[in-house]
Amino acid sequence: MSGMIEAAFLAKSKTGKPMISCIRTYRLSHRLDEPFGFSQWHYDVRNALLVEVIDDSGATGWGECYGPSEVTQSAVNAYYAPLLIGWDPLRNEAAWQHCWRAGLDFSLKGVMMGAISGLDMALLDLKGKLLGISVSELLGGRVRNQIDCYATGMYFRAAPDLQLLEVIVDEARGYVESGFRALKIKIGRNMIFDSRLIELMRATFPQVKLMADSNHAYDLPEATAIGRLLDEYDYTWFEEPLSPCHPDKFRQLADKIDVPIATGECEQTRWGFQDLLAPGGVQIAQPDLAYCGGPTEAVKIRAIASSLGINVIPHAWGTMLNLASATHLLATTYVEPGRADVTPPVLETDRSENPMRDEMYQPGLEIVDGRVAVPTLPGLGVEPDKKAMQRFCAQQTERAWR
Ligand code: MG
Repeated sequence: MSGMIEAAFLAKSKTGKPMISCIRTYRLSHRLDEPFGFSQWHYDVRNALLVEVIDDSGATGWGECYGPSEVTQSAVNAYYAPLLIGWDPLRNEAAWQHCWRAGLDFSLKGVMMGAISGLDMALLDLKGKLLGISVSELLGGRVRNQIDCYATGMYFRAAPDLQLLEVIVDEARGYVESGFRALKIKIGRNMIFDSRLIELMRATFPQVKLMADSNHAYDLPEATAIGRLLDEYDYTWFEEPLSPCHPDKFRQLADKIDVPIATGECEQTRWGFQDLLAPGGVQIAQPDLAYCGGPTEAVKIRAIASSLGINVIPHAWGTMLNLASATHLLATTYVEPGRADVTPPVLETDRSENPMRDEMYQPGLEIVDGRVAVPTLPGLGVEPDKKAMQRFCAQQTERAWR
């Protein structure tokens, strides 16, 4: 045990309150049977970084970090874990500030914030378990018990454009047949392919809610042309039409098209979202709870969005921990501007191959007829099965008071 950890633990052990005694990380990896891609690159491996925070009673909380997993693993294990050993896990907001202040001079945003996000998620899970209430109760209380899901998938595959169009429509048909009433396609491959796909999806699924995500592939003239097509074919939102580096351009685009603009999965913290949303143009903010600063920071981002009349619908990628976190946030989310018969927010459910999401949790979240029930168990309500996790584990670390 380092001197710093020992001093912190001994000081807090006199208070009689719960104390964090151990923080473990699990770097997980799975090579895909079939690589898939989007406008920026192809995946042939899925990675995840899970964080386990354990208190002196043996209670555990789990979180997940988005970002390059070797780097977030090092950030959690080498930098933030020593700050939190001996900490009272019920003081999760104070823990966030403690970590944030410790890295402020060199990590306003970026991978370090991804590491804080996973710890924040784990502390919230642990706090819920210690208090015997769910994360949605910790976040203020549920306003809905079921969330409609949309299917994210329909990624690019190694195939000629014409063949790929057929493959994507076939995949989408499977989701609709399994009960999904909303789908999000990937665009940003090239302008001709994108236009054909947008039109073909609407022609094939006239009653389905459709969204399109370019992952910041377009310049302003291209985004304007695609946006007008999405208007014509009645899409629900246009996701990441432009680079996140130029928040002013979203306003310029919004002045030319009607389809709502959604973005924010590359953004972090209340301050980052303030800068992104204040110029106007963005109508749906999409923080990722494993990256934006964690579920507690997402609540603050939601408050900033709400003050500007903007709705938050989280980006959700990764394993069940991030999905459960997004579910709890949406369970507590009021819709702007609100009315008696409001259209409820939808949960992103990535359907691409990921056994680290689908085969590793007991209990997990189950999508039935395109919908999930908000977990009512204490904490996040999903739990990694350590035995099932073993086959994916590339590296484990532990930082403990002994
Ligand atoms: Mg996206």
